[in-house]
Amino acid sequence: MIDVFNPANGTLVGRAPLHSAAQVSAAVDRASAAFPAWSRTLAKQRSELLRKWFELVSADRRAFAELMCLENGKCVAEALGEIDYGLGFIEWYAEEAKRVYGDTIPTHASDAAVLVTKEPVGPVAAITPWNFPFMMITRKVATALAAGCTIIIKPAEETPLTAYKLLEYARKAGIPEGVFEMVTGDPVGIGERFTNDARIRKISFTGSTAVGKLLARQSAGTLKKMTMELGGNAPFIVFDDADIEQAARGLVAAKLRNSGQVCISPNRIYVQSSVHDRLVARIKELVEEIPVEQGLQERFVVGPLINRRALDKVAELVDDAKAHGAKVVLGGSAHARGGLFYAPTILTELNDDMQIRSTEIFGPVFPVYRFDTEDEVIARSNDTEYGLVAYAWTRELGRSFRLSRNIESGMVILNSGSVGTASVPFGGVKQSGYGREGSHYGIEEYVHVKYTLMAGLA
Ligand code: ADP
Repeated sequence: MIDVFNPANGTLVGRAPLHSAAQVSAAVDRASAAFPAWSRTLAKQRSELLRKWFELVSADRRAFAELMCLENGKCVAEALGEIDYGLGFIEWYAEEAKRVYGDTIPTHASDAAVLVTKEPVGPVAAITPWNFPFMMITRKVATALAAGCTIIIKPAEETPLTAYKLLEYARKAGIPEGVFEMVTGDPVGIGERFTNDARIRKISFTGSTAVGKLLARQSAGTLKKMTMELGGNAPFIVFDDADIEQAARGLVAAKLRNSGQVCISPNRIYVQSSVHDRLVARIKELVEEIPVEQGLQERFVVGPLINRRALDKVAELVDDAKAHGAKVVLGGSAHARGGLFYAPTILTELNDDMQIRSTEIFGPVFPVYRFDTEDEVIARSNDTEYGLVAYAWTRELGRSFRLSRNIESGMVILNSGSVGTASVPFGGVKQSGYGREGSHYGIEEYVHVKYTLMAGLA
């Protein structure tokens, strides 16, 4: 069994199965065997099963939220937010299942017709991270099932309990074995088994860029369709014409979500010189009001980091910045509470040569850089191997369009700190990956286009 520990105090929360290679293969066998019949079910039937799953989980939101708090560390208030976000995908794709339209194309021959249909790609294997233990799973499973694919999920070892609870509710809703499977165990072995098996036609992965590249390499032999949601290094740009109060609030909410352990977390905060001090002072006030503790109550708190490795990495990045001249405005070290809690930290006087600029921090750290001109900040924002999301605050319309056009990222968020919802296409460019999740674009990842020529009609 895999032991699951509460990151807030190290106590055992529960156990998940440690599946053997034979058990993983059996899950692939079941997903493959179930595919032909599942792919031919009526869209309406698939929609109704998803809807039922949505209703059963919705009725028990609180139980899911408390479990997520215990195994992941995020506070209940935030877990409830993630659950609503994650349920949104089930609801959205229950509806979208009925709208996987093809088309006809004006014929190139007088006796012929051209049909274009969308077909499910086949059995899918998906690997998910621990930072959104609920939403990462519903987002992949709902889309796959809506498209007519079967799916096997391998959740992160840190947070398998929420995953298995979702599976349990899916079974209660009538989603059968084979159609939705789950395996846990040695990630390397499971990854190899998924990628080497020609029956798995698609891999959907959310996690680090290094593991994404490994899975892409491993899948080369069987040429699978892939969706890759990988790391980020999000710029958060505040121009001097912005609503500074709203920008500060948006920044604090975006940064402290999941204690900063989010791929879309603002990782480089660029503030125009004339409003730099004002913004820093305001975020300090806002951050100081937020407690740091395990959040089993309803209010928002900053929780622990997921494990010791995560804490050490954050400490190393902050220490490196301090050693190279960064000014600590707030925090700057592990929290007095001890364990895996890191103090919310604000750093200024940073330069572009520090490790923190090019590394995904994954902790409650606000690194604030000054900038002067729009061209300069766009160039600095784009100077990264990643391209997931960029945030910018400005009230000027022309600049908004220039930012949308010139920033190299899959998502540009203007005047908000909030990115995700089921109806929008989430995903990156460059080494943040490819493919989109959410919206009608998300379902395209799980289908292929079939062209049928019907000639001899004359
Ligand atoms: P993080 O550092 O955020 O945990 P990872 O990319 O290591 O990011 O983990 C994301 C997911 O990838 C987890 O489910 C993890 O178990 C899985 N994983 C890690 N290494 C491998 C691998 N070699 N093959 C397949 N999956 C892996």
